[in-house]
Amino acid sequence: MLGQIHIVMVNTTHSGNIGAAARAMKNMGLSRLTLVDPIAVIDEDAIQRSSGAADILQQVRIVPTLQEAIAGCGLVVGTSARSRHIPWPLMTPRECAAKAAQAIPAGNEVALVFGRESRGLTNEELHLCNAHVHIPTNPDFSSLNVAQAIQVLSYEMRLALVEGQVADDTGQWGVEWDYPLATHAELDGLFAHMEQAFIDTGFLDPNTPKQLMSRLRRLYQRAAPDKIEVNILRGMLAAMQNPRKQGESS
Ligand code: SAH
Repeated sequence: MLGQIHIVMVNTTHSGNIGAAARAMKNMGLSRLTLVDPIAVIDEDAIQRSSGAADILQQVRIVPTLQEAIAGCGLVVGTSARSRHIPWPLMTPRECAAKAAQAIPAGNEVALVFGRESRGLTNEELHLCNAHVHIPTNPDFSSLNVAQAIQVLSYEMRLALVEGQVADDTGQWGVEWDYPLATHAELDGLFAHMEQAFIDTGFLDPNTPKQLMSRLRRLYQRAAPDKIEVNILRGMLAAMQNPRKQGESS
């Protein structure tokens, strides 16, 4: 089950942090590390700091964009040391582990996304996530070292998924769901389709988009639609784009 969790590090600058992240993951039984456009390389320092978790460094996946890193994931969680502009669903690490403990047995892949040492994740990157996690901290000193943040999240994943210590959570309305969640790539397809349909129908002026698409992303990612629901929405959009002419038989 822990094999369905991807730790995603964006633009990491210090190789030692990549090594320390691998160690933190292996301690907790996680193994899948993805680096998005890393600045640092996996060097001697990374291997030393991994302290015996070089196997994780050898299997690391390196991709150019965050979208590619999370494309196959049904649940994407971004981590942040501070609150951001548009409020987004926010969880504690424990609540996040409870969500993962629901999603994983249903066959979904889960991504936990970590930001740059210098300035975290951008708003655009955070908007690609279903929800955000903030590790509760001293409000005057809220930023952990990235590998230590990975340690905290990995520990909570282990508690929930291996030790069975799942925080109270009513689940997705307290029932087993019938279809897997739409993946990030499928949601991206939906948002691109929506944007086009809104432009076609005049609802969205591409020259003054404001925050419409960010707010719609937030709405749908908060709902975490399944694959069938996304197909239905896309069918609706296609019908809007090609309305049947009046009088045409059904
Ligand atoms: N100075 C940056 C913080 C970067 S810390 C900023 O102000 O955003 C590097 C990464 O560690 C963050 O992007 C996040 O992934 C993780 N992290 C650090 N502190 C965290 C916290 N309190 N809660 C959740 N993630 C945290």
